[in-house]
Amino acid sequence: MFETLSDRLTSVFSSLRGKGRLSEEDINATAREIRLALLEADVALPVVRDFIARIKERSRGEEVSKALNPAQQVIKIVNEELVEVLGGETRQIRYAKNPPTVIMLAGLQGAGKTTLAGKLAKWLGAQRNTPLLVAADLQRPNAVTQLQVVGERAATPVFAPEPGNGVGDPVEVARLSVEFAERNNHNIVIIDTAGRLGVDTEMMRQAADIRDAVSPDEIIFVVDAMIGQDAVNTAQAFLDGVGYDAVALTKLDGDARGGAALSIRHITGRPIMFASTGEKLEDFDLFHPDRMASRILDMGDVLTLIEQAQRTFDEDEVQKMASTMASDEDFTLDDFLQQMMMVRKLGPIGNLLGMMPGMGQMRDQIDNIDDKALDRLQAIIQSMTPGERSNPKSINGSRRLRIANGSGTQVSDVNNLVTRFFEAQKVMRKMKSGGMPGIPGMPGM
Ligand code: GDP
Repeated sequence: MFETLSDRLTSVFSSLRGKGRLSEEDINATAREIRLALLEADVALPVVRDFIARIKERSRGEEVSKALNPAQQVIKIVNEELVEVLGGETRQIRYAKNPPTVIMLAGLQGAGKTTLAGKLAKWLGAQRNTPLLVAADLQRPNAVTQLQVVGERAATPVFAPEPGNGVGDPVEVARLSVEFAERNNHNIVIIDTAGRLGVDTEMMRQAADIRDAVSPDEIIFVVDAMIGQDAVNTAQAFLDGVGYDAVALTKLDGDARGGAALSIRHITGRPIMFASTGEKLEDFDLFHPDRMASRILDMGDVLTLIEQAQRTFDEDEVQKMASTMASDEDFTLDDFLQQMMMVRKLGPIGNLLGMMPGMGQMRDQIDNIDDKALDRLQAIIQSMTPGERSNPKSINGSRRLRIANGSGTQVSDVNNLVTRFFEAQKVMRKMKSGGMPGIPGMPGM
């Protein structure tokens, strides 16, 4: 996500680092580089222009000239301006005073509406809501079935056209679905509407008719971030044709440049509310402008990581891990396996590392990290006997061969794992005795 932009900006700042006072020339050169980075990221021209003007103005001001570290102050300003252009505060859903809250999704075909409907349903369901999905896309063959499949995966009922449910008329389906939700205690209705391949008057009219029939509390425009500037044009067309309250950006996982994310708010005046980052239902969250900005500047996205961990792990597991770390007993292969499985629950390892500060520099290596290698490690440990796991020193040559055969790996893989484990054990011993190797004066870190 946003790798190209992130790389460019990080290199702009690395040339600033170490500078004391900034000359007018330094400021102009930095502004020029940022401008190029934004243009390359496919950010809309008016957005680039305003952004650069703000950076220049603030860089010449007092906050920089009086700062202890002017160069760092400029980075801080860029961060703040990025947060602003991405929308400032995180936009939360506005719930209706009298349920159901009606959420209508609009956007082009292929934007990811149906997938997003499922993601939203699952996400809302996890927060003790009782959502209802509504199939008001009667244009595309299979759209109804697709939503039903998604609904099943999200454990959310789907209201679909059938005799009595407004067959053939999406406006009627939408209207009836809200009545159905009222009768059946669904506090949220998510309406999936029909898209077309391109902007089309008939599609806009239909979406507007549904809007008028159900008066949604939130109309969310769903758009594929990978189409860059086109996303901005489509966003404008839907704003004129249907109108909407907020934007959901999809396929951010495939968006190296970030042009749509950085332009949409400024051009349409509507905030980005949701970010969709993959094909799985879990790859979805509220869009947090501050976290996104620090991700772009490679300052890491530790908050998201922590929240993801909180969502994934239960209290007991965290306690167990903490007590392993704190106990006087030696770290064993069982602990090693347990920790590895916990971390893996968070998702592909490359995604995790990408959220950590400073990891942007290592992107190539991260992309090469292969979850299969972790599968192999897991298989090797699982092929050991409990005795071997708690006393790895007992794993001699013939046992290594047996373990390799049992796990479908090579003896060299087993050797590798055992060596690495002993290194990890040494680090753990040092940590437990209060002192991180290589960081003097920081006991217990
Ligand atoms: P709709 O026509 O707007 O309902 O779009 P769909 O929900 O059918 O999505 C179109 C395609 O995009 C499907 O193949 C989805 O799996 C895929 N898709 C949707 N959201 C994402 C996302 O965030 N990331 C990726 N990589 N693919 C996505």
